[in-house]
Amino acid sequence: MSHGRPINPATTIVRHSGEVLHRELDVDLCVIGAGISGTTTALEAARLGKTVAIVDGLPTLGGQAVNSIIGTFCGLYRNGTHGHRFTFGIVDDMLDYLDRNDASYYRHGPTTTVVHYNEIALSRWVETSLDTAGVIPVTGAILREAETDGRRIKSVKLVTRYGDVTIRAEGFADCSGDAALTYLAGFECREPDEKVYGSQQAVVEGIDINVELPQREELSERIAEKAEDYGLIRKNGLMFYFPGKEVAVMNMTHVETPLDPIEASRTSHIGKEQVDRGIKLLREQWPEAFGNIKVRSYGFPGIRQTRWIKAKHHLVVDEVVSEKKFDDAIGRTAWPIELHNAPEGFVWDVFDEDHTHYIPFSSMISPEADNLVAVGRCIDGDPAALSSVRVMGPCMAQGMAAANALDLAGSGSVHQIDISSLQDRVSDNLNRTDGVAPD
Ligand SMILES: Cc1cc2nc3c(=O)[nH]c(=O)nc-3n(C[C@H](O)[C@H](O)[C@H](O)COP(=O)(O)OP(=O)(O)OC[C@H]3O[C@@H](n4cnc5c(N)ncnc54)[C@H](O)[C@@H]3O)c2cc1C
Repeated sequence: MSHGRPINPATTIVRHSGEVLHRELDVDLCVIGAGISGTTTALEAARLGKTVAIVDGLPTLGGQAVNSIIGTFCGLYRNGTHGHRFTFGIVDDMLDYLDRNDASYYRHGPTTTVVHYNEIALSRWVETSLDTAGVIPVTGAILREAETDGRRIKSVKLVTRYGDVTIRAEGFADCSGDAALTYLAGFECREPDEKVYGSQQAVVEGIDINVELPQREELSERIAEKAEDYGLIRKNGLMFYFPGKEVAVMNMTHVETPLDPIEASRTSHIGKEQVDRGIKLLREQWPEAFGNIKVRSYGFPGIRQTRWIKAKHHLVVDEVVSEKKFDDAIGRTAWPIELHNAPEGFVWDVFDEDHTHYIPFSSMISPEADNLVAVGRCIDGDPAALSSVRVMGPCMAQGMAAANALDLAGSGSVHQIDISSLQDRVSDNLNRTDGVAPD
């Protein structure tokens, strides 16, 4: 065999010196967590001219949106079949990319418009946009320590398979979903008294698209009736179809998401077993549509709520229901209360067509910290309120606000920024009433 290049037989003998390889970075902003919240925060900060590092414990970017195969962008549109968009900015680039790559589909109604997406295309959008923006990725890096000086986080220490990394920054965004940074820095956090269940998602292939596919109500009724026979914990389920394609994202399981490291590791296998049971049910109950389906890929465990920050303001469900327009509002949505607080199902309280609820900036900042903003699953609210603002549309609005708030704060405090300047910068996400999704 010859491919034109001589083989070099030389090798180098190495022995561990006892010193762990240690890299250091100095940036304006360090973002912990590279899900949709962290990605939006990092991209917006780079757009503002900041040097940014984005860290994730996974060896890849995109968080749950990519790796847990979430399947749809929710909370982006006003209710009704053709409501206007709530969030603009970075999300425009993303929707554009998905559209150009034939990787999205807008499902209109009955509650609202949701955007189905292909997770592989989304992962490439995340990677290419962060690269183009000059954001430094530090992946496979677990946050181990946060060094503080009074009310400021000075640096974070990360552990990777290749060595340790220290990142010093002026500002920090906790986009970890579990408030990992806030907690390690020693600031107060909350955990729910009642369990909030996660789900193991899967992409299934082999759907027969020449027959009528069961829709949400039919699926729910039959699964409720049959779940026990198949050993399924959750008694309802969803299938996110792509018209004309033989694949769908299956969301039919409930899995506990404990914070104990050993227990947490077990849940992935429990979730996959539930998926397999769901596949059996679908095959047998709808043999024409699903007789030949199989799992193409299992997502990483999908985690809804675990631990979050105790912020200056604790958003409560009454404020969501009553559409309270906070003086420091930075984003909005109309997503229902979607609380997965029981093994068999979840609370699903849909709002009227003209409903809008708001996210206050004060739910994103710890009263104990000056240079830290939380984004996404770990902002502060009661579990029901959080369930309506942690879907990906409002996560992106929060990311825009976090980057701008930290930019306005500079070396000062996020508690002292001029809120109207912040609101001016994100005014599209508070005021625009256009952007109805295409059919
Ligand atoms: C099963 C399921 C279905 C859902 N369905 C929908 C839906 O259809 N539409 C929708 O809009 N929303 C949905 N949601 C909600 C939505 O997916 C999440 O709330 C959203 O993705 C949160 O994004 P995030 O960036 O805040 O967090 P994540 O995507 O969880 O990102 C956090 C990142 O931080 C990293 N991290 C955590 N701790 C550390 C650490 N110590 N060190 C280093 N890195 C760390 C993690 O690896 C992770 O990548 C669903 C959620 C689940 C679980």
